[in-house]
Amino acid sequence: MLKRGDVVLVTGASRGIGAAVAHTMAAAGMRLAVTASRQETLQPTIDRLRALGAEVMALPADLRDSGQTLALVPAVISAYGSLRVLINNAGIGVYGPFETFALDDFDRVLAINVRAPFLLCRAAIPHLRATKGAIVNIASVVAIKGYPRQAAYAASKHALLGMSKSLRRELLADGVRVHVICPGGVDTDLAAQARPDLDRNALMTPLEVAELVQFLLMRTGNGVIDQVDVRRAEADPWD
Ligand code: NDP
Repeated sequence: MLKRGDVVLVTGASRGIGAAVAHTMAAAGMRLAVTASRQETLQPTIDRLRALGAEVMALPADLRDSGQTLALVPAVISAYGSLRVLINNAGIGVYGPFETFALDDFDRVLAINVRAPFLLCRAAIPHLRATKGAIVNIASVVAIKGYPRQAAYAASKHALLGMSKSLRRELLADGVRVHVICPGGVDTDLAAQARPDLDRNALMTPLEVAELVQFLLMRTGNGVIDQVDVRRAEADPWD
């Protein structure tokens, strides 16, 4: 579906899964707009993408801030003139016992993991309609099952999955696709913090998730894959 030169906006592109997604999209010839919280954290990604010869713009923004979040899509349109794909990848995990979990942390997790994708989707939809484009939301295994001490994170990812399902049907007639990926453990900073007990060598790599994003966006034919659940080979299936 995607063609070279299409414009792709990736959030959380400074490291982990987002950096791998941006790299894969750039290698496939897309024009990139990448975001993370600060220019300094984003710069290594920008350097790597430019070394590939990619056309890329850096858009630092704190996704806790609605104003900064809402400014992203207009900045992409003003630079590139169109948008084909929005990849809502940025996310945080804050973990702790339910009864003492700080309200500020609950709000922060929901703001970055749910409110920011909501605002970005709203801003992007008119432009995605014009390009018959797509949204890819990176949810989690935690969108499907819950773990102790992860109630806020699980609530945010269940919400992102639910929002994706509704939006998918709402945009059906417009030819805009909404994909959601629910990965298990991926070898990133977030996983190291959430699950220090797991053997890093048994985690998925960020590239594995990036290749799934690419597969969803590049495949041709009449079928659409709405949701991908992908787990570590050693983890229980979550059916
Ligand atoms: P990382 O912690 O490696 O990266 C998180 C990214 O989000 C960074 O680019 C970070 O930018 C950005 N980000 C965090 N806070 C903000 C903010 N306030 N404003 C703007 N950007 C922000 O995470 P992963 O790569 O592991 O996770 C990516 C996505 O995948 C997340 O949504 C996560 O929930 C999901 N996921 C991860 C799994 C895993 O095991 N790793 C499993 C399932 C899902 P900066 O560098 O500037 O802080």
